[in-house]
Amino acid sequence: MIISWSTGPPAGDPTLRRRIEPLEFEFSFDPRNFCKEAYLLYEIQWGNSRDVWRHSGKNTTKHVERNFIEKIASERHFHPSISCSIFWYLSWSPCWECSKAIREFLNQHPNVTLVIYIARLFQHTDPQNRQGLKDLFHSGVTIQVMRDPEYDYCWRNFVNYPQGKEAHWPRYPPLWMNLYALELYCIISGLPPCLQISRRYQNQLRVFRLIPQNCHYQMIPPCILLATGMIQLPVTWRWIE
Ligand SMILES: [Zn+2]
Repeated sequence: MIISWSTGPPAGDPTLRRRIEPLEFEFSFDPRNFCKEAYLLYEIQWGNSRDVWRHSGKNTTKHVERNFIEKIASERHFHPSISCSIFWYLSWSPCWECSKAIREFLNQHPNVTLVIYIARLFQHTDPQNRQGLKDLFHSGVTIQVMRDPEYDYCWRNFVNYPQGKEAHWPRYPPLWMNLYALELYCIISGLPPCLQISRRYQNQLRVFRLIPQNCHYQMIPPCILLATGMIQLPVTWRWIE
């Protein structure tokens, strides 16, 4: 008898031919890697059925979000009353124009819910992009930074991982996820940027600066600030006898 353990994605998996290659995933979704191309991995859960669609897309002449909207809106059975949950795993957060297009799409399809996970924030100091994300959030879209569970999930469900490497999803430094989560919190709360990321590298490391102002200290719960590992709050020490 031959027992096989973890031999790559199951051969009968209908999404097999649509999976992306491991290197492409690791490169595109690395929070430190400012690649030009945007990647979208998406999953649609239809109403109460167990039917799940998984697919991926890249930027063409249009941004990947707009390609998704045009493609899905052209589906024969995608009428305005359709009920489904959409999950996006985006390498870059939506720009303001895409954020607007997403809101229009959701207005036309009130029974569609959208959850967006992002690997990086796209030009996050641009006021229009910040407003776009804020409006998206306040219109009911869940936006979160990708963390280990999402990288694990994408690897298992969207990536053509090699035999026996089912648990070898890429691990990135949590610092980057914490920095983006902090900045996303600022965006949603209407606070000015506190994260500056340089496009250049220093000793092969991407350079960033965290520059919190008084308003950040006043408005951001200390646990979120501390989670970056970059900020220390004043602590009074005392000996316990
Ligand atoms: Zn866009």
